[in-house]
Amino acid sequence: MSEIIYLDNNATTRVADEVLAAMTPFYREHYGNPHAIHSLGRRAHDGVEAARADVAELLGCSASEVIFTSCGTEGNAMVIRGLLDRHPDRRKIVTSAVEHPSVLTLLRALERENVIELDVVPVDQQGVIDLGRMNKAIDDRTLLVSVMLAQNETGVIHPIAKIAGMARARGARMHVDAVQAAGKIPISQKELDADFITISGHKFHAPKGIGALTIRKGIALQPLWYGGGQELGMRSGTEPVPAIVALAAAARLAREALPVYGRVRALRDRLESGIRARVEDTSINGVTQPRLGNTASIAFHDAKADEVVRALDAEGVCVSAGAACHSGSVEPSSTVKAMGIPLRAAMGVVRFSLSRYTTEAEIDRAVEIVGEVLGARMLK
Ligand code: PLP
Repeated sequence: MSEIIYLDNNATTRVADEVLAAMTPFYREHYGNPHAIHSLGRRAHDGVEAARADVAELLGCSASEVIFTSCGTEGNAMVIRGLLDRHPDRRKIVTSAVEHPSVLTLLRALERENVIELDVVPVDQQGVIDLGRMNKAIDDRTLLVSVMLAQNETGVIHPIAKIAGMARARGARMHVDAVQAAGKIPISQKELDADFITISGHKFHAPKGIGALTIRKGIALQPLWYGGGQELGMRSGTEPVPAIVALAAAARLAREALPVYGRVRALRDRLESGIRARVEDTSINGVTQPRLGNTASIAFHDAKADEVVRALDAEGVCVSAGAACHSGSVEPSSTVKAMGIPLRAAMGVVRFSLSRYTTEAEIDRAVEIVGEVLGARMLK
């Protein structure tokens, strides 16, 4: 089989060579505990603190506002649970219908347990949050508004600063899951007017197992667990120094690449137009909206997404399905369902997600393969 064409970068990414090179000395040479006072400890400590500054730079906040976590899921839970534990007086949380399960399933569980009152604001068929409903939902009992910056399946970018303004007007906190946005669009805690921002390294060429959370200065969260008091007491446990250094290296690379991210967008547009020219009855989710430049959510009408993914995989193209097979029947993802996409299109939603390393040759080959697989086998 020829080389794999990897177009599933919203699921996870390859670790960049520079990232691997940056982290390796922290396994082999600077392996001290960052809280030890000897020279190896100090070197590890310096690595962690330099990394904090790099991540702060990526997120437009100060280094003292950055906490290292293990992943996006942990950062999201840290905010939601940590804030609830601190504010027994406010019990309402407002979110959108297209949040990642790390937010939505946690909030639904807390609602079931009668810990919170939850208001899930709907989106339209393009994935646009109903801002009128959002404004009504946020009231003076609202503790937290949690909305993602960019949607993981469609890439649709949400108007966070507007929503944060609504939250602030009612004294609620604003949490932004920026896991998919990081490294793909500029992020600024100040401009977003966010109190908390979650990111995850493996989505932008750092290894799996490292992420970060920003906590705006002056805000207190209850930690999820206790121990040695690392990370400002928010995340006890010896820091994974090599992974932290890797996250910072990935953040630096991402910042350098942001000004030329238009190249990725041009390739994504080439992919979409190439596929539409070859396959009948397709639609592109979120196409009318501001979207991440790397994401194409394409509905192949009357096809079954999981079959499409398997057929493309057999030809060496890795993508992901917006609908999955459960006990014999295909079920659209919760995002696709929330968007109210008609069933005929919803069952065939496939996500293609590029990276900075995707080449034009890969896109052209992927378009050809999609044309062969879907033009001949699935639709006719
Ligand atoms: N939030 C969003 C928007 C995501 O896309 C993901 C992962 O796909 C997560 C959170 C969870 O991140 P992690 O896998 O690092 O826990």
